[in-house]
Amino acid sequence: MAYRPYQQILRRASRQIGVGKVRVGGDAPITVQTMTNTPTEDAKATIEQIRRCELAGVDIVRVSCPTEESTAALAEIVREVNVPVVADIHFHYRRAIEAAEAGAACLRINPGNIGSKERVKEVVKAARDHGCSMRIGVNAGSLEKHLLEKYGEPNPEALVESALWHADHLLQEGFDEFKISVKASDVFLAVAAYQQLAEACDHPLHIGITEAGGRRAGTVKSAIGLGSLLWAGIGDTLRVSLSAEPEEEVAVGWDLLKSLHLRHRGVKIISCPSCARQGFDVIRTVEKLEERLAHISEPITLSIIGCVVNGPGEALMTDIGLTGGGAGSHMIYGMGKQSHRISTEEMVDHIVDLVTARAEKMAAEKRAAEAEAAAATRQAAE
Ligand code: SF4
Repeated sequence: MAYRPYQQILRRASRQIGVGKVRVGGDAPITVQTMTNTPTEDAKATIEQIRRCELAGVDIVRVSCPTEESTAALAEIVREVNVPVVADIHFHYRRAIEAAEAGAACLRINPGNIGSKERVKEVVKAARDHGCSMRIGVNAGSLEKHLLEKYGEPNPEALVESALWHADHLLQEGFDEFKISVKASDVFLAVAAYQQLAEACDHPLHIGITEAGGRRAGTVKSAIGLGSLLWAGIGDTLRVSLSAEPEEEVAVGWDLLKSLHLRHRGVKIISCPSCARQGFDVIRTVEKLEERLAHISEPITLSIIGCVVNGPGEALMTDIGLTGGGAGSHMIYGMGKQSHRISTEEMVDHIVDLVTARAEKMAAEKRAAEAEAAAATRQAAE
């Protein structure tokens, strides 16, 4: 997706694992995750929440499995959703085995915490038998006692040592289908830990700033932390942790990837902050368009600019552009070129129509290309 040499991001070379049908690491696209906040035992509510996240573009969803009832509900949840489900297990190894049996695509578990070597063996066997990968999830807030004693506080070295210590439990069983996270709520600590871990191993990394905060502050914090890592090429899958609904986390995750041209999904709106020169109400227009275009998944760029100071220039770099003009008459651009004028009253509906038509055309072209590729494969096999 990078367009210019200065926009290139060189991704860290990591090995690739599977989380169900989704590949993580290596040259696989960086994936967006979130976590449900419904009681997992309530399969219906959890399925509905996951479906909302699917509409927002989630790639992988994590579900907490604290009880036997929750792993029992997991089978139905896995069956009813389209994305792979990661079962979040804390200490109880039985839950991990049950979750693997229920069809979880991945277990988030720290093998050093589940007790004896025998239990680790059993969990690894269940994961192998059911095609599950794992995530080792180290968190600065729950670091092992022996590391806190050694380092005095949760510092980057302690987080990395913890991650590699857990990893060693799996490697000793000959199991390497896992990814690792070393999260902290402090941006400096999390970024430094991930940087060190990225140097120390080639396992795929799940990146996140844990307990980042509410929607606005958490988004800023995640953008700084995850943005720094992604920019440096670190991170194979991510979760933005907000005290907000999971679909909001997904939207922010996508915005992060889009900002760095790492992945592009849906409509990317370039809009000006507006000022006294604006030919229409930029803020309200963008709000309306964001809402009405949220369901579009095709990658389309749209510039909504209040006046000619920046409008024509931004329109050059977007698929569809709107530049405010005088007397309630504004210019529409297509692929950087002036196309026609539109009135303030009609412009939102008109832009929604233009974007929708473009999205339908792109989807039809994609379907045709896929059909052509499938036909070519069939022909080659005959
Ligand atoms: S593009 Fe025009 S309306 Fe928008 S902030 Fe700049 S000068 Fe103001």
